[in-house]
Amino acid sequence: MEIITIPCLQDNFAYLLICPKTGDAAVVDPSEAIPVKKEIKHRNVKLTTILNTHHHWDHVGGNKELKADYPELKIYGHASDRGRIPEQTEFLEDGDDIRFGGQSGSFLHNPGHTSGAITYVFGKSAFTGDTLFAAGCGRLFEGTPAQMHDSLNQRIGQLPDQTELYFGHEYTETNLRFALSVESGNTEISNKLADVKALRASGAFSTPTTIVEEKQTNPFMRCTSSEIQASVKSSDPGNDLSEKEVFRTLRELKDVF
Ligand SMILES: [Zn+2]
Repeated sequence: MEIITIPCLQDNFAYLLICPKTGDAAVVDPSEAIPVKKEIKHRNVKLTTILNTHHHWDHVGGNKELKADYPELKIYGHASDRGRIPEQTEFLEDGDDIRFGGQSGSFLHNPGHTSGAITYVFGKSAFTGDTLFAAGCGRLFEGTPAQMHDSLNQRIGQLPDQTELYFGHEYTETNLRFALSVESGNTEISNKLADVKALRASGAFSTPTTIVEEKQTNPFMRCTSSEIQASVKSSDPGNDLSEKEVFRTLRELKDVF
């Protein structure tokens, strides 16, 4: 399966997935229709499917216009997002699969950023929306720190180490700077920050990351690190240093970083 990154709005990513056998395509989180339509035309593929990771406007903003152009479109989202994702036709529940062209995939329900947030998984590629960003995670709009901790560590974090993670926003540089602020001795973080700065200076994007890189650099997946625990303790002396409490304080610190 071919994956094309489509920058949208200010810092959003949509992704065009192309089935090489049939030429059918799916688009993950079309923030807006125009750049997606341009890419479809340029690649000469047939759009059959929209995969929405959650209901926020900057992830579903192109749904209506694309549905008007391609009336047969299947539009996937979590069952609990019924009424919140424009034009949704497929309402995913645990165990359901996703098909377009000759491709089949699955999904993980990972509440925290929103209650219906999901990650799509096609082989070794996963699309995490605003749940996992490189070196970070989404804000907790509709979930608790404990839910988000589980979503990142028990659900997404259980994917194989080499899984490539395609995320929803180009926030990597700021996220890595925050990560360094709570774990300054972690050279994986400082090395990645240097790499990402060079990448961004050349006009490229930092997506995708991988599970193994996130386990090394994402503070929200490193709540057992002794250096992170010491940072948390210094800003929140009453913290009991259970993984979920460390996560809660980290998220609060990031909210004001
Ligand atoms: Zn969002």
